[in-house]
Amino acid sequence: MSTYLPDATHAAAARSWVASANAPACDFPLQNLPYGRWRRPGDSDWRLGAAIGDQLLDLAEAGLVPHGDMNRLMAWPLSERRRLRQALFEGLHEGSPRQADWAAALHPQASVELGVPCEIGDYTDFYASIHHATTVGRQFRPEQPLLPNYSWVPVGYHGRASSIVASGQPVRRPWGQTRPPEGGTRPRFGPCRRLDYELELGLFVGAPNALGEPVALGEAEAHLFGVALFNDWSARDLQAWEYQPLGPFLAKNFASSVSPWVVTMEALAPFRAPLQRPDTQPAPLPYLDSEDNQQQGALDIQLEVWLQTPAMRAAGHAGDRLSTSRAADAFWTPAQLLTHHTVNGCNLRSGDLLGTGTLSGPAPEQGGSLLELSAGGQQPLRLSNGEQRSFLEDGDTVVLRGFCERPGWRRIGLGECRGTVLPARTGSE
Ligand code: CA
Repeated sequence: MSTYLPDATHAAAARSWVASANAPACDFPLQNLPYGRWRRPGDSDWRLGAAIGDQLLDLAEAGLVPHGDMNRLMAWPLSERRRLRQALFEGLHEGSPRQADWAAALHPQASVELGVPCEIGDYTDFYASIHHATTVGRQFRPEQPLLPNYSWVPVGYHGRASSIVASGQPVRRPWGQTRPPEGGTRPRFGPCRRLDYELELGLFVGAPNALGEPVALGEAEAHLFGVALFNDWSARDLQAWEYQPLGPFLAKNFASSVSPWVVTMEALAPFRAPLQRPDTQPAPLPYLDSEDNQQQGALDIQLEVWLQTPAMRAAGHAGDRLSTSRAADAFWTPAQLLTHHTVNGCNLRSGDLLGTGTLSGPAPEQGGSLLELSAGGQQPLRLSNGEQRSFLEDGDTVVLRGFCERPGWRRIGLGECRGTVLPARTGSE
Protein backbone atom coordinates (compact mmCIF):
# COMPACT_ATOMS: atom_id res chain seq x y z
CA MET A 1 0.00 0.00 0.00
CA SER A 2 1.49 3.34 -1.01
CA THR A 3 2.40 5.85 1.67
CA TYR A 4 1.16 8.77 -0.43
CA LEU A 5 -2.13 8.65 -2.32
CA PRO A 6 -3.94 11.37 -4.27
CA ASP A 7 -6.76 13.03 -2.35
CA ALA A 8 -9.00 16.10 -2.61
CA THR A 9 -5.93 18.40 -2.49
CA HIS A 10 -4.95 17.09 -5.95
CA ALA A 11 -8.30 17.79 -7.66
CA ALA A 12 -7.39 19.19 -11.08
CA ALA A 13 -10.23 21.71 -11.10
CA ALA A 14 -9.31 23.36 -7.79
CA ARG A 15 -8.37 27.03 -8.12
CA SER A 16 -6.79 29.54 -5.77
CA TRP A 17 -7.75 33.12 -4.90
CA VAL A 18 -4.08 33.88 -5.67
CA ALA A 19 -4.62 34.58 -9.38
CA SER A 20 -1.07 33.77 -10.58
CA ALA A 21 -1.45 30.20 -9.23
CA ASN A 22 -4.14 29.47 -11.82
CA ALA A 23 -2.00 30.13 -14.91
CA PRO A 24 -1.75 26.82 -16.83
CA ALA A 25 2.07 26.72 -16.94
CA CYS A 26 2.53 27.83 -13.32
CA ASP A 27 4.89 25.56 -11.33
CA PHE A 28 3.14 26.35 -8.05
CA PRO A 29 -0.62 25.89 -8.38
CA LEU A 30 -2.88 25.10 -5.41
CA GLN A 31 -2.17 21.38 -5.90
CA ASN A 32 1.60 21.76 -5.27
CA LEU A 33 2.25 23.86 -2.11
CA PRO A 34 6.02 23.30 -1.72
CA TYR A 35 7.90 24.59 1.34
CA GLY A 36 10.98 26.79 1.51
CA ARG A 37 12.86 29.34 3.61
CA TRP A 38 12.77 33.06 2.88
CA ARG A 39 13.74 36.39 4.40
CA ARG A 40 13.38 40.05 3.62
CA PRO A 41 16.46 41.85 2.33
CA GLY A 42 18.57 42.78 5.36
CA ASP A 43 16.96 40.27 7.75
CA SER A 44 19.14 37.63 9.36
CA ASP A 45 16.55 35.04 10.39
CA TRP A 46 14.87 32.68 7.97
CA ARG A 47 11.09 32.31 7.86
CA LEU A 48 9.05 29.42 6.49
CA GLY A 49 6.88 29.83 3.43
CA ALA A 50 4.74 27.86 1.01
CA ALA A 51 4.90 28.82 -2.67
CA ILE A 52 1.61 29.70 -4.35
CA GLY A 53 1.80 31.12 -7.89
CA ASP A 54 4.43 33.87 -7.96
CA GLN A 55 3.83 34.55 -4.25
CA LEU A 56 4.70 32.82 -1.01
CA LEU A 57 2.52 32.48 2.07
CA ASP A 58 4.42 33.05 5.31
CA LEU A 59 3.52 30.10 7.54
CA ALA A 60 3.88 32.07 10.80
CA GLU A 61 1.88 35.10 9.65
CA ALA A 62 -0.83 32.72 8.43
CA GLY A 63 -0.98 31.16 11.91
CA LEU A 64 0.06 27.72 10.68
CA VAL A 65 3.63 27.14 11.96
CA PRO A 66 4.86 29.43 14.74
CA HIS A 67 8.61 29.05 14.05
CA GLY A 68 11.13 29.33 11.22
CA ASP A 69 12.79 25.93 11.67
CA MET A 70 12.31 23.82 8.53
CA ASN A 71 14.12 20.84 10.03
CA ARG A 72 11.51 20.69 12.81
CA LEU A 73 8.73 20.77 10.25
CA MET A 74 10.44 18.04 8.23
CA ALA A 75 10.51 15.81 11.34
CA TRP A 76 6.75 15.96 11.78
CA PRO A 77 4.80 12.70 11.59
CA LEU A 78 2.86 12.09 8.39
CA SER A 79 -0.46 12.96 10.04
CA GLU A 80 0.80 16.46 10.93
CA ARG A 81 2.23 17.00 7.44
CA ARG A 82 -1.10 16.03 5.91
CA ARG A 83 -2.94 18.39 8.26
CA LEU A 84 -0.74 21.32 7.20
CA ARG A 85 -1.18 20.58 3.49
CA GLN A 86 -4.95 20.35 3.98
CA ALA A 87 -5.04 23.67 5.88
CA LEU A 88 -3.01 25.41 3.16
CA PHE A 89 -5.18 23.95 0.41
CA GLU A 90 -8.42 25.03 2.07
CA GLY A 91 -7.17 28.48 3.06
CA LEU A 92 -5.75 29.29 -0.37
CA HIS A 93 -8.73 27.82 -2.25
CA GLU A 94 -10.95 30.15 -4.21
CA GLY A 95 -13.73 31.49 -1.97
CA SER A 96 -11.98 30.65 1.31
CA PRO A 97 -12.91 32.93 4.24
CA ARG A 98 -9.17 32.93 5.09
CA GLN A 99 -8.46 35.23 2.13
CA ALA A 100 -9.16 38.35 4.20
CA ASP A 101 -6.49 37.42 6.79
CA TRP A 102 -4.01 35.60 4.63
CA ALA A 103 -3.70 38.25 1.91
CA ALA A 104 -1.40 40.15 4.31
CA ALA A 105 0.77 37.02 4.76
CA LEU A 106 1.50 36.85 1.01
CA HIS A 107 4.83 38.12 -0.31
CA PRO A 108 6.00 38.24 -3.93
CA GLN A 109 8.77 35.63 -4.37
CA ALA A 110 10.69 38.08 -6.54
CA SER A 111 10.95 40.59 -3.67
CA VAL A 112 12.56 38.29 -1.09
CA GLU A 113 15.65 36.12 -0.64
CA LEU A 114 15.01 32.38 -0.99
CA GLY A 115 17.54 30.20 0.81
CA VAL A 116 18.71 26.61 1.00
CA PRO A 117 15.46 24.96 2.19
CA CYS A 118 16.76 23.76 5.59
CA GLU A 119 19.91 23.24 7.63
CA ILE A 120 21.45 20.28 5.80
CA GLY A 121 23.30 18.18 8.35
CA ASP A 122 24.64 15.44 6.10
CA TYR A 123 24.65 15.01 2.36
CA THR A 124 25.07 11.76 0.44
CA ASP A 125 25.31 11.52 -3.34
CA PHE A 126 24.20 8.39 -5.19
CA TYR A 127 24.69 7.14 -8.74
CA ALA A 128 21.12 6.04 -9.46
CA SER A 129 21.00 6.43 -13.26
CA ILE A 130 22.25 3.36 -15.08
CA HIS A 131 22.36 5.44 -18.27
CA HIS A 132 24.72 7.97 -16.69
CA ALA A 133 26.81 5.21 -15.10
CA THR A 134 27.08 3.35 -18.42
CA THR A 135 27.98 6.37 -20.55
CA VAL A 136 30.58 7.66 -18.10
CA GLY A 137 31.90 4.16 -17.43
CA ARG A 138 32.36 3.61 -21.18
CA GLN A 139 34.67 6.63 -21.37
CA PHE A 140 36.98 5.07 -18.79
CA ARG A 141 36.45 1.34 -19.36
CA PRO A 142 35.12 0.67 -22.89
CA GLU A 143 35.31 -3.10 -22.29
CA GLN A 144 33.32 -3.02 -19.02
CA PRO A 145 31.33 0.21 -18.61
CA LEU A 146 29.31 -1.06 -15.63
CA LEU A 147 31.17 -2.64 -12.75
CA PRO A 148 29.56 -5.82 -11.34
CA ASN A 149 28.41 -4.17 -8.10
CA TYR A 150 26.20 -1.67 -9.95
CA SER A 151 23.38 -4.21 -10.39
CA TRP A 152 23.19 -4.85 -6.66
CA VAL A 153 24.38 -1.86 -4.64
CA PRO A 154 22.91 1.64 -4.82
CA VAL A 155 26.40 3.14 -5.12
CA GLY A 156 27.00 6.39 -3.24
CA TYR A 157 29.51 8.46 -1.29
CA HIS A 158 29.34 10.93 1.55
CA GLY A 159 29.44 14.49 0.27
CA ARG A 160 29.87 17.79 2.05
CA ALA A 161 26.89 19.84 3.26
CA SER A 162 28.78 23.07 4.05
CA SER A 163 29.20 24.03 0.39
CA ILE A 164 25.59 23.48 -0.70
CA VAL A 165 24.38 26.89 -1.85
CA ALA A 166 21.03 28.40 -2.73
CA SER A 167 19.87 28.69 -6.31
CA GLY A 168 20.98 32.01 -7.75
CA GLN A 169 24.24 32.14 -5.82
CA PRO A 170 27.25 32.27 -8.17
CA VAL A 171 29.75 29.42 -8.14
CA ARG A 172 33.48 30.07 -8.39
CA ARG A 173 35.64 27.94 -10.68
CA PRO A 174 37.84 25.90 -8.33
CA TRP A 175 41.58 25.38 -8.31
CA GLY A 176 43.12 22.00 -7.91
CA GLN A 177 45.56 19.31 -8.94
CA THR A 178 45.15 17.60 -12.26
CA ARG A 179 46.84 14.72 -14.03
CA PRO A 180 50.47 15.22 -15.08
CA PRO A 181 50.87 16.07 -18.75
CA GLU A 182 51.60 13.16 -21.13
CA GLY A 183 54.97 11.65 -20.22
CA GLY A 184 55.32 13.71 -17.03
CA THR A 185 55.08 12.78 -13.37
CA ARG A 186 54.37 16.14 -11.71
CA PRO A 187 50.70 17.13 -11.59
CA ARG A 188 49.50 20.45 -12.87
CA PHE A 189 48.02 22.86 -10.28
CA GLY A 190 45.67 25.57 -11.42
CA PRO A 191 42.08 26.56 -12.17
CA CYS A 192 39.77 23.76 -13.29
CA ARG A 193 39.61 23.43 -17.10
CA ARG A 194 36.78 20.92 -17.32
CA LEU A 195 34.03 22.41 -15.19
CA ASP A 196 30.68 20.63 -15.47
CA TYR A 197 27.19 20.50 -14.01
CA GLU A 198 25.20 17.43 -12.94
CA LEU A 199 21.41 17.29 -13.27
CA GLU A 200 20.14 15.65 -10.09
CA LEU A 201 17.21 15.54 -7.72
CA GLY A 202 17.83 16.20 -4.03
CA LEU A 203 15.71 14.06 -1.70
CA PHE A 204 15.15 15.58 1.75
CA VAL A 205 14.82 13.25 4.72
CA GLY A 206 11.72 13.78 6.86
CA ALA A 207 11.27 11.69 10.01
CA PRO A 208 14.65 10.43 11.28
CA ASN A 209 15.63 6.86 12.14
CA ALA A 210 17.56 5.91 15.26
CA LEU A 211 21.16 4.74 15.05
CA GLY A 212 21.19 0.97 14.67
CA GLU A 213 17.63 0.80 13.33
CA PRO A 214 17.39 0.21 9.58
CA VAL A 215 14.34 1.48 7.69
CA ALA A 216 12.52 -1.29 5.79
CA LEU A 217 11.61 -0.61 2.16
CA GLY A 218 7.90 -0.44 2.96
CA GLU A 219 8.56 2.28 5.57
CA ALA A 220 11.10 4.26 3.56
CA GLU A 221 8.75 6.71 1.90
CA ALA A 222 7.35 7.80 5.26
CA HIS A 223 10.91 8.99 6.02
CA LEU A 224 11.10 11.10 2.84
CA PHE A 225 9.89 14.69 3.05
CA GLY A 226 10.20 15.91 -0.51
CA VAL A 227 12.27 16.72 -3.56
CA ALA A 228 14.21 19.68 -4.99
CA LEU A 229 16.42 20.26 -8.03
CA PHE A 230 20.10 19.75 -7.35
CA ASN A 231 23.15 20.73 -9.43
CA ASP A 232 26.25 18.85 -8.29
CA TRP A 233 28.90 21.06 -9.94
CA SER A 234 31.88 18.91 -10.88
CA ALA A 235 35.50 19.56 -11.80
CA ARG A 236 36.17 16.69 -14.20
CA ASP A 237 39.93 17.22 -14.52
CA LEU A 238 40.38 17.29 -10.74
CA GLN A 239 38.09 14.25 -10.44
CA ALA A 240 40.05 12.15 -12.95
CA TRP A 241 43.30 12.63 -10.98
CA GLU A 242 42.00 12.28 -7.42
CA TYR A 243 39.17 9.73 -7.53
CA GLN A 244 41.16 6.51 -7.07
CA PRO A 245 40.98 4.72 -4.70
CA LEU A 246 38.53 6.52 -2.37
CA GLY A 247 36.19 8.30 -4.79
CA PRO A 248 35.19 11.94 -5.35
CA PHE A 249 36.65 14.61 -3.06
CA LEU A 250 37.63 18.18 -4.02
CA ALA A 251 36.21 17.77 -7.54
CA LYS A 252 32.74 17.82 -6.00
CA ASN A 253 32.73 19.71 -2.71
CA PHE A 254 33.48 23.26 -3.91
CA ALA A 255 29.76 23.90 -4.55
CA SER A 256 26.41 22.24 -5.16
CA SER A 257 23.27 24.30 -5.85
CA VAL A 258 19.79 23.45 -4.62
CA SER A 259 16.44 24.93 -5.64
CA PRO A 260 14.52 26.80 -2.93
CA TRP A 261 11.19 24.95 -2.95
CA VAL A 262 10.85 21.39 -1.63
CA VAL A 263 8.00 19.69 -3.45
CA THR A 264 6.52 17.29 -0.93
CA MET A 265 6.00 13.58 -1.39
CA GLU A 266 2.30 14.33 -0.81
CA ALA A 267 2.22 16.70 -3.81
CA LEU A 268 3.92 14.06 -5.98
CA ALA A 269 1.30 11.36 -5.21
CA PRO A 270 -0.35 11.51 -8.67
CA PHE A 271 3.02 11.37 -10.43
CA ARG A 272 4.43 7.98 -9.53
CA ALA A 273 5.75 5.50 -12.08
CA PRO A 274 6.96 1.91 -12.34
CA LEU A 275 10.63 1.18 -11.84
CA GLN A 276 12.41 0.87 -15.21
CA ARG A 277 14.80 -2.03 -14.75
CA PRO A 278 16.32 -3.41 -17.94
CA ASP A 279 15.51 -7.11 -18.54
CA THR A 280 19.20 -7.89 -18.59
CA GLN A 281 19.52 -6.84 -14.93
CA PRO A 282 18.89 -9.21 -11.99
CA ALA A 283 16.14 -8.57 -9.45
CA PRO A 284 17.43 -6.65 -6.42
CA LEU A 285 18.16 -8.42 -3.15
CA PRO A 286 14.94 -8.93 -1.13
CA TYR A 287 15.54 -5.97 1.26
CA LEU A 288 15.49 -3.66 -1.80
CA ASP A 289 12.55 -5.26 -3.57
CA SER A 290 8.78 -5.12 -3.25
CA GLU A 291 5.81 -5.21 -5.58
CA ASP A 292 4.83 -1.69 -4.55
CA ASN A 293 8.32 -0.36 -5.25
CA GLN A 294 8.34 -2.02 -8.68
CA GLN A 295 4.91 -0.71 -9.61
CA GLN A 296 5.13 2.88 -8.39
CA GLY A 297 8.42 3.52 -6.63
CA ALA A 298 9.74 5.93 -9.24
CA LEU A 299 9.01 9.64 -9.54
CA ASP A 300 7.58 10.77 -12.88
CA ILE A 301 9.37 14.12 -13.02
CA GLN A 302 10.45 15.65 -16.36
CA LEU A 303 13.83 17.32 -16.15
CA GLU A 304 15.57 19.94 -18.28
CA VAL A 305 18.97 21.62 -18.39
CA TRP A 306 19.34 25.11 -19.88
CA LEU A 307 22.53 27.01 -20.62
CA GLN A 308 22.84 30.76 -21.13
CA THR A 309 26.28 31.98 -22.19
CA PRO A 310 27.46 35.56 -21.60
CA ALA A 311 27.04 36.23 -25.35
CA MET A 312 23.45 35.00 -25.20
CA ARG A 313 22.78 37.15 -22.15
CA ALA A 314 24.18 40.22 -23.94
CA ALA A 315 21.93 39.50 -26.91
CA GLY A 316 18.82 39.08 -24.74
CA HIS A 317 18.68 35.34 -25.56
CA ALA A 318 17.16 33.22 -22.75
CA GLY A 319 19.48 30.29 -23.42
CA ASP A 320 19.47 26.86 -25.03
CA ARG A 321 17.86 23.74 -23.64
CA LEU A 322 20.77 21.28 -23.61
CA SER A 323 18.87 18.15 -22.62
CA THR A 324 15.71 16.59 -21.24
CA SER A 325 15.33 13.42 -19.20
CA ARG A 326 12.97 11.70 -16.78
CA ALA A 327 13.59 10.92 -13.13
CA ALA A 328 11.53 7.74 -13.67
CA ASP A 329 14.36 6.32 -15.82
CA ALA A 330 16.56 5.93 -12.74
CA PHE A 331 17.73 2.42 -11.83
CA TRP A 332 17.01 2.87 -8.11
CA THR A 333 13.95 4.50 -6.52
CA PRO A 334 14.11 7.08 -3.69
CA ALA A 335 12.82 4.43 -1.26
CA GLN A 336 15.58 2.00 -2.28
CA LEU A 337 18.23 4.70 -1.76
CA LEU A 338 16.94 5.52 1.72
CA THR A 339 16.57 1.88 2.75
CA HIS A 340 20.03 0.97 1.51
CA HIS A 341 21.54 3.98 3.31
CA THR A 342 20.13 2.74 6.63
CA VAL A 343 20.54 -1.04 6.15
CA ASN A 344 23.74 -1.03 8.21
CA GLY A 345 22.06 0.96 10.98
CA CYS A 346 23.23 4.39 9.76
CA ASN A 347 20.90 7.06 11.16
CA LEU A 348 19.47 9.71 8.84
CA ARG A 349 18.32 12.99 10.34
CA SER A 350 15.57 15.39 9.32
CA GLY A 351 16.90 17.70 6.63
CA ASP A 352 19.65 15.35 5.46
CA LEU A 353 20.00 15.44 1.69
CA LEU A 354 20.29 12.44 -0.62
CA GLY A 355 21.39 13.36 -4.14
CA THR A 356 20.15 10.90 -6.75
CA GLY A 357 23.23 11.22 -8.95
CA THR A 358 23.08 12.55 -12.49
CA LEU A 359 19.71 11.68 -14.02
CA SER A 360 20.49 10.89 -17.64
CA GLY A 361 18.00 9.25 -20.00
CA PRO A 362 18.62 6.26 -22.29
CA ALA A 363 19.32 8.34 -25.43
CA PRO A 364 22.73 9.99 -25.96
CA GLU A 365 21.17 13.47 -26.15
CA GLN A 366 19.61 12.87 -22.71
CA GLY A 367 22.90 13.10 -20.84
CA GLY A 368 22.58 15.07 -17.60
CA SER A 369 26.11 16.49 -17.77
CA LEU A 370 28.45 17.98 -20.36
CA LEU A 371 30.82 15.05 -19.78
CA GLU A 372 28.17 12.92 -21.47
CA LEU A 373 26.83 15.42 -24.03
CA SER A 374 30.32 16.30 -25.31
CA ALA A 375 31.67 12.72 -25.09
CA GLY A 376 34.29 13.67 -22.55
CA GLY A 377 35.04 16.93 -24.37
CA GLN A 378 35.74 15.24 -27.72
CA GLN A 379 32.55 16.39 -29.46
CA PRO A 380 31.80 19.99 -28.46
CA LEU A 381 28.14 20.97 -28.38
CA ARG A 382 27.12 23.48 -31.01
CA LEU A 383 24.83 26.11 -29.47
CA SER A 384 22.01 27.90 -31.29
CA ASN A 385 24.02 31.14 -31.62
CA GLY A 386 27.03 29.37 -33.18
CA GLU A 387 29.07 29.10 -29.98
CA GLN A 388 30.47 25.76 -28.84
CA ARG A 389 30.90 24.16 -25.43
CA SER A 390 32.80 21.10 -24.27
CA PHE A 391 32.71 22.26 -20.65
CA LEU A 392 31.50 25.38 -18.84
CA GLU A 393 33.14 28.74 -19.39
CA ASP A 394 33.22 31.72 -17.04
CA GLY A 395 29.94 33.62 -17.03
CA ASP A 396 27.88 30.63 -18.17
CA THR A 397 24.57 30.25 -16.35
CA VAL A 398 23.17 26.74 -15.86
CA VAL A 399 19.47 26.38 -15.04
CA LEU A 400 17.83 23.08 -14.06
CA ARG A 401 14.07 22.78 -14.35
CA GLY A 402 11.61 20.05 -13.41
CA PHE A 403 7.88 19.46 -13.67
CA CYS A 404 5.20 16.76 -13.55
CA GLU A 405 2.53 16.48 -16.20
CA ARG A 406 -0.06 13.75 -16.55
CA PRO A 407 -3.56 13.66 -18.13
CA GLY A 408 -6.27 14.22 -15.54
CA TRP A 409 -3.99 16.00 -13.03
CA ARG A 410 -2.88 19.57 -12.56
CA ARG A 411 0.67 20.19 -13.77
CA ILE A 412 3.08 21.00 -10.92
CA GLY A 413 6.71 22.12 -11.09
CA LEU A 414 9.87 22.22 -9.03
CA GLY A 415 10.79 25.73 -10.12
CA GLU A 416 14.40 26.19 -11.10
CA CYS A 417 17.94 25.73 -9.79
CA ARG A 418 20.22 28.42 -11.22
CA GLY A 419 23.92 29.16 -10.94
CA THR A 420 26.47 31.26 -12.83
CA VAL A 421 30.17 30.41 -13.10
CA LEU A 422 32.54 33.02 -11.68
CA PRO A 423 36.19 33.13 -12.85
CA ALA A 424 38.74 31.32 -10.69
CA ARG A 425 40.49 33.36 -8.03
CA THR A 426 43.70 34.84 -9.30
CA GLY A 427 46.87 33.28 -7.98
CA SER A 428 49.98 31.56 -9.15
CA GLU A 429 50.39 27.99 -10.15
CA1 CA B 1 26.80 13.76 -8.50
